[in-house]
Amino acid sequence: MRELLQRAAERAGFTLGQPQLDALQQLADGLIALNQHVNLTAITASDEIAIKHLLDSLYCLRVIEQLPSIQRLADVGSGAGFPGLVIKIARPQLDVTLIEATSKKADFIRQMVSELQLEATTVLAQRAEESGRQLGMRESFELVTARAVARLPILAELCLPLVSVGGHWLAQKGADYTDELSDAAHALDVLGAELSEVIPYQLPRTATPRNLLVFRKVRPTPPQYPRRPGMPAKRPLQAG
Ligand code: SAM
Repeated sequence: MRELLQRAAERAGFTLGQPQLDALQQLADGLIALNQHVNLTAITASDEIAIKHLLDSLYCLRVIEQLPSIQRLADVGSGAGFPGLVIKIARPQLDVTLIEATSKKADFIRQMVSELQLEATTVLAQRAEESGRQLGMRESFELVTARAVARLPILAELCLPLVSVGGHWLAQKGADYTDELSDAAHALDVLGAELSEVIPYQLPRTATPRNLLVFRKVRPTPPQYPRRPGMPAKRPLQAG
């Protein structure tokens, strides 16, 4: 797995030192071990973990490297730590907060953070709707990431309240994001963001195109957002 990841990462232009490769291997091992008891992720073969979880998460570095002023990053709906924990391993100087609603998943991330002795890493077993209303969290991250959490009109309400004005939100999406993006126009307008860039990429050994959707926060989010937990999904912000 390690060689496959190293080769694929190099080919994609990401430099990883030995300590980072060791940590990513340890994360994959931890995931495989726990998955034998608890179903934490559908992807269980180590080569698939290397490409579909680790390398896919590393692609967020394409955006991070364009935004050198990032200090604090939050990852919403991290699951077993993707992409937030992988980003932290690859760029340890970042202060990273991982927000995950399911306790057993947050516990796994906490265990890995402790085993890997990662500093400046906060794991919160809570819903992003709560985080987005908390002092010290609201509008305090220069970058918020999310992968495979919800459709864009919902995800916008989970992520954008956490982004500082002038900061960015990065949503990792597959090939079919265009309908979601047009459905999110109203939410972006209400919550104070604009699409700044779409960066397409392709993972090796897979046929499906991937996309990094980058949004810039241009205005503060009105105080009534995010609404209470569950509301963004129940009544997505959509015009009409
Ligand atoms: N981002 C990870 C990945 O790509 O492997 C996990 C994806 S998983 C399909 C979606 C995760 O988002 C779940 O672990 C779920 O508990 C979490 N989630 C969904 N809604 C959430 C919310 N409102 N706040 C925090 N976490 C949430």
